Amino acid sequence: LVSRKKQKEDTIVSIRGVEVGGGSPIMIAGPCSVESYEQVRQVAAHLKTSGITVMRGGAFKPRTSPYDFQGLGIEGLRILKEVADEFGLRTISEIVDPAHIELACQYIDVIQIGARNMQNFELLKAAGDIRKPILLKRGLAATIDEFLHAAEYIVSRGNTQVMLIERGIRTYEKATRNTLDISALPILKQESHLPVLVDVTHSTGRKDILAPCAKAALAAGADGVMVEVHPNPATALSDAQQQLNFEEFTRFYDDVRNFTLVP
Ligand code: PEP
Ligand code: MN
Repeated sequence: LVSRKKQKEDTIVSIRGVEVGGGSPIMIAGPCSVESYEQVRQVAAHLKTSGITVMRGGAFKPRTSPYDFQGLGIEGLRILKEVADEFGLRTISEIVDPAHIELACQYIDVIQIGARNMQNFELLKAAGDIRKPILLKRGLAATIDEFLHAAEYIVSRGNTQVMLIERGIRTYEKATRNTLDISALPILKQESHLPVLVDVTHSTGRKDILAPCAKAALAAGADGVMVEVHPNPATALSDAQQQLNFEEFTRFYDDVRNFTLVP
């Protein structure tokens, strides 16, 4: 069902009226984790002035160490909703438990399925049973074929509103946190009609190369870019190294937005 052979036209996913796919690329931004009402409010206020319409923020954080900040859980989703309502933003947040999927729909606009859960089949089935947009991340070591099959789990249950997002894969290269697989973009666009985005923050783990990587992704056909923004990255409870502060975000966004191959 996710194949181009089944459907020629691009799927356009509507995030409460904000369209992704088949048109102008979208920029999704927001903190790695929801840490407090005030923190999310500050980010939302800044994104709003930049013209961003979709904000991300993790409430359930799949961390490598059990001793690291695990997220605020449902309380984090409540904060996202309160702030999004105030600023008229749409929200994306990761859900890790199939039992939370329906409840989460009351608070957020897009359910993110994280890289570590790309083949959590019960979670994929639960995502397929709702009628809200899903942002499916590519697994850390998933092939393109496995990625598309994960999307098929969701679409085959009737939820056609699926966006794919390349977030870097694990290779021997240590210069970046993960290796951004640029070639996956044109392949995914050719193989599937679903929108394809790129998470430049998690794929590189490096602030200094975000802009060129975002431009490369757009040149390769990405329908959007996701990036992490925090009011004070040094104090962030997760991914402190790689989140942009407001000034850096504004510079990054201007740079990427003004980028076109043909003037
Ligand atoms: C995230 O986007 O918050 C995240 C944890 O990313 P990933 O699942 O790609 O590691
Ligand atoms: Mn992060």
